[in-house]
Amino acid sequence: MNREDFAGLVLDACRRMEERGMTVGTWGNISVRIDNESFLITPSGMSYGCLKTEDIVLADMKGFVIDSKRKPSIEHGLHRMIYKYRPDVGAVIHTHPQYSTAFAIARKDVPAVSEELVQIIGEGVKCAKYALPGTEELAINAVEALGNNNAVLLANHGAVCVGSTLGDAFKVAEVLEKSAKTIIMATIIGTPQVISHEECLKMQDFVRNHYGQK
Ligand SMILES: [Zn+2]
Repeated sequence: MNREDFAGLVLDACRRMEERGMTVGTWGNISVRIDNESFLITPSGMSYGCLKTEDIVLADMKGFVIDSKRKPSIEHGLHRMIYKYRPDVGAVIHTHPQYSTAFAIARKDVPAVSEELVQIIGEGVKCAKYALPGTEELAINAVEALGNNNAVLLANHGAVCVGSTLGDAFKVAEVLEKSAKTIIMATIIGTPQVISHEECLKMQDFVRNHYGQK
């Protein structure tokens, strides 16, 4: 795949993010890794509807923009740091969905309450320590709280979801939002029960080694 093909994937993901109501206006940002040296990311402050492939910005892992006519998203440092510390990650989606953001503004972790959350994202989702958007501090706090999970919450802000492909990262974003909504509903009718660490490990082992036709 060439740069244009990767940029096309980012554009498709932008449309999908908007269609699903995961963000409003020009908020949120999406990137895809090209290789160990570079990634493509949405530009800063442009509405998703009018984006073209040439508006998607190419950035390297040192923080420089390469051969691009637009400025990258303000959160490009966060995306870069995730690619640096997580070689398994091929795509990053940052969104502001309603229920996940409710946890983020309450500065609460999303606990491990369902099989799909544990298998797709990890043993719960942590809320990173607060930092101003676009700062290195925010990137450091987010990568620390992300650990080896596939999602993290940014305090008073939104969610960051990762996957080996954009499709996987979307699945993570959808499972996180559904989990956040379901926990809030469960709190109305009772007390959500958290799955134990041992049970989480068993579920993760099952999906890795035995699920489907394995
Ligand atoms: Zn944001």
